[in-house]
Amino acid sequence: MATDLSQKLFTEALRSIPGGVNSPVRAWNAVGGVPRFIQRARGATVTDVDGNTYIDYVGSWGPMILGHAHPTVLQAIQTALRDGTSFGAPTACEVELACTLTAAIPGMEKVRLVSTGTEATMTALRLARAATGRDKIVKFDGCYHGHSDGLLVRAGSGALTFGTPTSPGVSAATAAATLVLPYNDLTALDRVFAEHGREIAAVIIEPIAGNMGLVPPNPEFLTSLRRLTSSAGSVLICDEVITGFRVRYGAVQPLYGITADVTCLGKIVGGGLPLAAVGGSAAIMDQLAPLGPVYQAGTLSGNPLAVAAGNETLTQLAKPGVYERLDEKGARLEAGLKAALKKSGQRACVNRVGSMLTLFFGLDEVVDSKSAMACDTAAFTKFFQGMLARGIYLPPSAFETWFVSMAHSEDDIDLTLQIATDVLAKV
Ligand code: PMP
Repeated sequence: MATDLSQKLFTEALRSIPGGVNSPVRAWNAVGGVPRFIQRARGATVTDVDGNTYIDYVGSWGPMILGHAHPTVLQAIQTALRDGTSFGAPTACEVELACTLTAAIPGMEKVRLVSTGTEATMTALRLARAATGRDKIVKFDGCYHGHSDGLLVRAGSGALTFGTPTSPGVSAATAAATLVLPYNDLTALDRVFAEHGREIAAVIIEPIAGNMGLVPPNPEFLTSLRRLTSSAGSVLICDEVITGFRVRYGAVQPLYGITADVTCLGKIVGGGLPLAAVGGSAAIMDQLAPLGPVYQAGTLSGNPLAVAAGNETLTQLAKPGVYERLDEKGARLEAGLKAALKKSGQRACVNRVGSMLTLFFGLDEVVDSKSAMACDTAAFTKFFQGMLARGIYLPPSAFETWFVSMAHSEDDIDLTLQIATDVLAKV
């Protein structure tokens, strides 16, 4: 497989872009090798600058649920494009998107459109602090909520340790306001609310975690979280940037019998263009300027091209049977991977919810960040490289979620499984 042009571009990129990439995981540091520079994508495939075509399970990290370059989404963008690309003034199509989102997400009476998931979660925290007059935030180890200062914090030793910054440049004071708990750990959650409940402005959670690999929640954990936040007067923020419209039409919260005070959306709602959203009860959202004192703004917020792509993507997803089909595709991939693993004698577990999935090597169960981190990353690297060489493009890290789209056919999945069986025999 030729990679000369990707190699050449990466060498050039390293001179002018830090690490050669505009988002770290694209550099493939976890798996090594030359990151492929993508020329074009169609349906379930991406094609690199050297002309290699791969079946893609990255899906731009989640947004491409309909597949790449979906014809009606492209058409919607083209139609919008003819009228201009940005006005810095309100448009009819953003009202349409806001109405679609508020109708689909329980508890979302009002919503503001932003450009990235990072902005959505950052605004959610500001709203929660303003609403409660409190400072402390609780997040869960292994959940990622974008790169704003207060959320770039990992656990210290022990569940109740106040956070230390994960990144230089985040002040100790900012990190200290963020408490980090293990995901799915009810005891730690009970303790933190018993000790600090009245100081906690908000708890932010991925209701299905997708950033330590895929880790489903223990349903009881989410219902307890809802109960504890309500009784302490803390704001519950569900970060559904990945899960929103991925597992079902709307949020995943109803699957677990909870309704967040604030929900963050991103990825799918922008149909592959830069768009995200933060919404919740009118009481919380009406704190935002110009109605209220909480400041938030964006030159490109509600950008007409992004909104057009989002509206059309959600229109397609509202059609009957979409999520059943996505679940069938995910189930086919899961079952085939498990059979291939069994045949190879490899120890591994597969976590899946709908069209999201992660294969963890060397483990029987993954329920939180600690168990995820114990996986065999060397085995994953061999698997990743073997799959890549045979035309399957997986996320380049053991701790990422694979995304299946509507464009993945049974044949695509079966070919992936046939290759996986061959590759696993050599891992
Ligand atoms: N929240 C979650 C759950 C995410 O997965 C991500 C990005 N992967 C973000 C927030 C941040 O979104 P963005 O990259 O658009 O800033």
